[in-house]
Amino acid sequence: MGTGEFELIARYFARPARRATQGIGDDCALWTPAAGHHLAVSCDMLVEGRHFLSTVAPERLGHKALAVNLSDLAACGARPAAFMLALALPRADEAFLEGFTRGMFALAQAHGCELIGGDTTQGPLTIAITVFGEVPVTIGGQSGALLRAGAAPGDEVYVSGTIGDARLALEVFRGHLSLDAAEFESVRRAMELPEPRVALGIALRGVASSAIDLSDGLLGDLTHVLERSGVDAVIDADAVPRSMAVSRQAPTVQRLCTLSGGDDYELLFTASPDRAAEVAAASEAVGVQVTRIGHIEPRALSGNTLLRVVDRHGKVLGDLPRSFDHFRS
Ligand code: ADP
Ligand code: MG
Repeated sequence: MGTGEFELIARYFARPARRATQGIGDDCALWTPAAGHHLAVSCDMLVEGRHFLSTVAPERLGHKALAVNLSDLAACGARPAAFMLALALPRADEAFLEGFTRGMFALAQAHGCELIGGDTTQGPLTIAITVFGEVPVTIGGQSGALLRAGAAPGDEVYVSGTIGDARLALEVFRGHLSLDAAEFESVRRAMELPEPRVALGIALRGVASSAIDLSDGLLGDLTHVLERSGVDAVIDADAVPRSMAVSRQAPTVQRLCTLSGGDDYELLFTASPDRAAEVAAASEAVGVQVTRIGHIEPRALSGNTLLRVVDRHGKVLGDLPRSFDHFRS
């Protein structure tokens, strides 16, 4: 690299350590979680052309790279604490780094999450972030962390926010659809600047029976919960909350965006019906809408995971769009 690796690190990444005992600058970072807490750890990688388009502004890319990781912490009900950044750059592009770090640090600061280390190398643009969060080991005798396992027959299924905008934006970028300028700008924001539902995840500790964040599409992500929990579910496709931009599309496009969309970074969670008031209170407290979209059923005798999707009249829908799979699409 023209500008040296160490100069880049010093200029763009090094920040004084705050809670870390040792931040950037030594061979390892040192970090102690609060007493009685698990360290919740997750890693997400973004590759140009695969997870983002080369047209994205660096500042938005910096935001999104951290946001998708914070979303995993949110899904576990963990509070963000620290993160590591491994970055491969084609060249020492300072304009890129300036924008990228501005977007990344703005979101990091908003969540009190400090950069404690990483690695920088030359190569095709790739961003891998590892986040560390804290979650109480137990709450009221049960796991403090929200997990995919835990959904029980009779539980309600909820999602936060609205679903499908990011996929709609992708369809426009691919030239499959067009939107007016204002609508395009709003769905593009949803795709490029997702807001991880960290406060909601924390508010749902001890209330939700299971949770996952929606990254690959609602049906696929819900299936992960059903498999881990050993249960089935019925979902009302028409109940899935969507923006005006999505509701104006043809029914098949709406189904594609809401059921198999991907890149939503909303939370999908389950809760027993007798916790409904607590779910509503959590939603109210953090100012994020949650919508009930279905319920959990006992595992059918066949033993295979069954996710039944119906419309508002209760008619079963067949031939559903598939979720995203990197090795299939
Ligand atoms: P080593 O060779 O021992 O792996 P490096 O020379 O790669 O260490 O990194 C020096 C310091 O800078 C380390 O503390 C490392 O965590 C940090 N660092 C390197 N790249 C990044 C980055 N992209 N973001 C944050 N910290 C980084
Ligand atoms: Mg290194």
